Amino acid sequence: MSTRLELLSADACVGDQMYRLVRELYPICRSITGQGVRDTLGTISQEVPIHLSEVPTGTPVFDWAVPREWNVRDAYIKNSCGEKIVDFNKCNLHVLNYSVPVKKEVSLHELKEHLFTLPEHPDWIPYRTSYYQENWGFCITHRQFLELQEEQYEVLIDSTLNEGHLTLGELLIPGESPEEVLLSAHVCHPSLCNDNLSGIALNTFLAKYLSRFRLKYSYRFLFAPGTIGAITWLALNEQRAANIKHGLVMACVGDDGNLSYKKTRSGDAAIDRAAQHILKHSGRPYNLMEFSPDGYDERQFSSPGFKLPVGSLSRTPHGRFAEYHTSADNLDFVRPTNLADSLSKAISIVYVLEHNGKYINQNPKCEPQLGKRGLYRALGGRTETSVSEIAMFWILNLSDGEHDLLDVAERAGLPFCLIKDVSDVLRQHELLKETP
Ligand code: ZN
Repeated sequence: MSTRLELLSADACVGDQMYRLVRELYPICRSITGQGVRDTLGTISQEVPIHLSEVPTGTPVFDWAVPREWNVRDAYIKNSCGEKIVDFNKCNLHVLNYSVPVKKEVSLHELKEHLFTLPEHPDWIPYRTSYYQENWGFCITHRQFLELQEEQYEVLIDSTLNEGHLTLGELLIPGESPEEVLLSAHVCHPSLCNDNLSGIALNTFLAKYLSRFRLKYSYRFLFAPGTIGAITWLALNEQRAANIKHGLVMACVGDDGNLSYKKTRSGDAAIDRAAQHILKHSGRPYNLMEFSPDGYDERQFSSPGFKLPVGSLSRTPHGRFAEYHTSADNLDFVRPTNLADSLSKAISIVYVLEHNGKYINQNPKCEPQLGKRGLYRALGGRTETSVSEIAMFWILNLSDGEHDLLDVAERAGLPFCLIKDVSDVLRQHELLKETP
C-alpha cells in the first residue's frame, strides 16, 4: 500500500455494489438496540472488517443510560374472522418501534388509539418510534384505517424489552498521523432506504475504498444507532474523541436530489472548506446549509463539551422529502447512480483533507524561470495561457507558508485536484517545499 489516495469517478459498478448492500439490509427490522442492529453490522462486516462492541443496558452515558434491548418476533392485527389484516412479516414498519409486548382483544375504539397513519399520503405506512415511553402500536396506511369496521380485533406484538446490550460497529483505518477523521452513519432505522441504508452503504464503501491507500490521517468509521449510539460512543471514548480533527455524518445520500452539505458548528473548519470546494466544482447545483443543532449525530459531536468539527453530507436533507420516515422511502427511492455520485464526492472531500498542505516557494524573489525547466511553453507571443500555467503562477505566488493548496485553488478558481497535481510537478523541480 504505497499509493496515496486517488480520486474515484462515479462508476456504475460501485453504485450497483452499494445498491446490493442496501437491498440486502432492507428487510431487517432495526432499532436502537437488538438483533436487527447486530445482523446489520454482521452484513457490513462481510464488506469491511468492523469491530462490534456490546454496551450493557443501564450503562450510564452522560445524562442518559443505555436502554433495555428490544427485539420483536411477530406482530399482527386479526379481525373478528381471524384474518390477519396487518402483518409485521409483510412490512416491519407496521410495528411501532420499541412497542412493549401485547396480546389481547380490543374494540375498534381502543385499537384506533394505537394506530398511526398518514392522511396526506393514504397509501404509505408511517415509521414511528416510542423508545423512551412505554407504548404499543401499529402503523398502517390511512386507506386501511378508513376501511376498519366496528368489530373486535385481536392484537399481538410478540416483542421483548429486556436487559441486554446496545451494539456499536467501528473500524479504524490507521494513517501516518494519530489525528482522526470521523465518518459516521446511523444504523437504527428498519426498512427505510434513503434514511438510513444509503448512509450505511456510503460509509461501508468509503471504508473499503480508503483501506486501499496509504493515508495521512487515521479514519474512524462509526456505525451506531442514532442519538443514543453516538452519545454512548462519546461517553466511552471521551479521550479518543480529542483526536478527531475532521468529521462527516452520512445520511440520505441515495435519492435523486442535489448534494447538500451542512456545515460544522464553527462553520469554518477544514472539512467545511473542503466540502464546499468539492460541491462548487462538481458542475452541478448543490445546497449549502449552516449548522443547526438538529439532524443526525452531528448534534452530539457538536455539543459544547466536544465541539468536534463534524459536518454532514446528504442529497435531499432529512425531513425535506415527502417519503421521509414512510414506507415510500423504499428500494425505488434510492438509485445506484446517486449512491455512486455521493461516494465519489465523499472521496473527493477526503482527497482534499489528505493532500492539502502549505508550501514554500523555493525561489520567492521574482518568478523562477520556468522555460529552462521545461515547465513553460516554448513559443512566446500566444495570447492564451494554459490552465496548468495559470495554476503554476498561483501556486508559486501564494506558497509563502501562509496559504495552503486549498486557499490557492479557491483564489485561482480552479479545482483542488489540478492545483495538487501541478504542485507535485513544482515539487519535483524543487521549486516548492512543504512546510515542516
Ligand atoms: Zn430518520
